[in-house]
Amino acid sequence: MTIQTGVAYFEGRAPRHTSRDLDDMVDSGCTYVIHCYSEFDVKYAPDSMRRLVADTRARGLGVWLDPWGVGEVFGGEPFSRFGAVHPEARQIGSNGLANTHACLNQPAFRAWVHDWVDAAAVAGAETIFWDEPTWEIRGGTWSCRCERCQALFRERNGAAMPVEFVPEVKLFLEVSMADLLSDACTYARAKGIENALCIMPPEATNPGFTDWDRAASIEGLDNFGTDPYWYSFGGDPAEYVGRHARATVEVADRHGLDHHVWVQAFEVPAGREAEIGIAIDAAADAGARNIAAWSYDGCSAMSTCECSRPEEAWKVVADGFRRVRSRG
Ligand SMILES: [Zn+2]
Repeated sequence: MTIQTGVAYFEGRAPRHTSRDLDDMVDSGCTYVIHCYSEFDVKYAPDSMRRLVADTRARGLGVWLDPWGVGEVFGGEPFSRFGAVHPEARQIGSNGLANTHACLNQPAFRAWVHDWVDAAAVAGAETIFWDEPTWEIRGGTWSCRCERCQALFRERNGAAMPVEFVPEVKLFLEVSMADLLSDACTYARAKGIENALCIMPPEATNPGFTDWDRAASIEGLDNFGTDPYWYSFGGDPAEYVGRHARATVEVADRHGLDHHVWVQAFEVPAGREAEIGIAIDAAADAGARNIAAWSYDGCSAMSTCECSRPEEAWKVVADGFRRVRSRG
């Protein structure tokens, strides 16, 4: 089976720009595109996204849609308006303060996610890419201790929810996240859409899931992946990416799922671009049959994440993609 090669895209919505970018992706050896579909896009650019998805398919590329920053629960920089619309369903930190993130246990957020899936279906999603789901855990404060979470914890554990970030709390958060994702994936599958999930590696500050078997057991899931970003998390590209790619393939195989592995093509320091190619080769050597790069054109559209030399970084991604695809 030929290796699938994907790239995340959020730069453009106007056809005069996206046409050129999509042609470039084809020339660069990509086989599919992960289109980032933010709450802003759903509200103000749904037909733009439908057109972009159609233009992507017309070039023979597959389409994944990413709930980019939705609820500030999934990965991505866009703000969510969920907390403004449903202030009662925001996460409450262990310090007692509400934050801007949606509580995964609140019915209002499940409905919000269903609405997003509906929009993704209309836009033409083939696969939904559930990226880096997390609870808000930062600076010694963890979430969520809203009344609903406290009641659910008592129901499941027969005891009051601690204020300390103890193992019982961590388990509760992971199980709650798996519940939300099972609900979302089942809902999407009923619409004929496949589901892919990306979990950050365990050494990330807030990886979301530390138990990959629990994540891979999510109902309705088709594809399990991780994003071993070695510039961010530290590590040698060949060893680090290879090790995580092997683990990803093993977990996915064990659960009868497809898999994917992300390669870092953002925040790449000048002079270290060649490591992207080393990482792509390492993932392929480790058995990965689906490799994706975050993001298009060295992330040049977002200054806080862009590579020092985005053009050079993107060129290395393209060379790597073409190289591993030519292996067959
Ligand atoms: Zn809560």
